[in-house]
Amino acid sequence: MTDEPSRHSPNSPKGEPSASAVFVAMMRQVAAKAVSKAAREEPGGTAPLSLPFESEAEAPIPRETRLETRRVRRLPYRPLLRRPQPASMMGGFLGAIFVAAISASLVATLLMFFVDPEFLNPAVVQGLQIDSGAIVAGIEAPAPTAVVTPRWLQRIGVISGHRGRDSGAVCEDEYGNPDLLEVDINFAVAQRIVARLRAENYAIDMLDEIDPRLEDYRAALMVSIHANTCADFEEVVSGYIVHKSDARPEGGADSFLRECIALNYGAAVPLQRSYAETEDLINYHAFQRIHPLTPAVIVELGYMLADREILTQDPDLLADAITAGILCFLDNVALSNSQQPPAAARGYLVPARVTPTPAFGA
Ligand SMILES: [Zn+2]
Repeated sequence: MTDEPSRHSPNSPKGEPSASAVFVAMMRQVAAKAVSKAAREEPGGTAPLSLPFESEAEAPIPRETRLETRRVRRLPYRPLLRRPQPASMMGGFLGAIFVAAISASLVATLLMFFVDPEFLNPAVVQGLQIDSGAIVAGIEAPAPTAVVTPRWLQRIGVISGHRGRDSGAVCEDEYGNPDLLEVDINFAVAQRIVARLRAENYAIDMLDEIDPRLEDYRAALMVSIHANTCADFEEVVSGYIVHKSDARPEGGADSFLRECIALNYGAAVPLQRSYAETEDLINYHAFQRIHPLTPAVIVELGYMLADREILTQDPDLLADAITAGILCFLDNVALSNSQQPPAAARGYLVPARVTPTPAFGA
């Protein structure tokens, strides 16, 4: 190799002829063809040609050159064509990157349609969601206070039942057309609760029925607002229900929240308390998703058939009653049995601390 550096290009394998050697051999073939062609076209075919190749062909060719030429003739030309060109290599590299980028963006766009919204980080979703308090009609956002009060640390979650998911229970008119949706009743009450608690400077999360923020949700409390079925039981079925998770022990903070809301709701709204249990209450999905230490209840404001007028005529009354129950819990949950509620009680009733287990199914 060292004595013949020009015979091989640096990247060709040992023993393979260099490009220059192949080129010379090709030129010789072309010239030989040209000579024989010229000889055939020439009458007699004996015209003297002054091409240097002829005289060279007459001269004795070294054995080494003849062997090399024969070997070169057997070589396919493909390896030569494959030799990469510096310019096209760079172009290919950029082209590959371009194709990869286009493919990735297309695949990402397609996959986006199949991604469950709950797959997203709750913090990201929270950042994207509209502040629900802004949509409360006719209610001004509370002005910021001069000093940040500890109430801001008391986060409260209010689920507007079925919102963002379905209509919930439906009442139909005589023609079978829906004329009252549970989701509308729930939202009318829930947005008023949120506005009232915001006016008291609490930090409120207005939550959808299936809200990604519910996952491991930590708050001073969580309440879910619903209304009961519009089904006709062929008897008057009326009343409100407040239910905590069956998985939580009786007598704890959940029970106290339930009793605070039930007591204040029953005092303000002309409805009897019902202890009926439905599958929706017992296996309420949000109870299983929130943090185990977040007290939580679900409220059925009333039955949409028998209690329709109360549910639709005065949402402010219902919201005031629920809000009073929430304030009852917030002000008193940390107090022991012997302690009295604060003197500046905000117009709510406080239930007995130790509440007997209600007779469910009554
Ligand atoms: Zn419901």
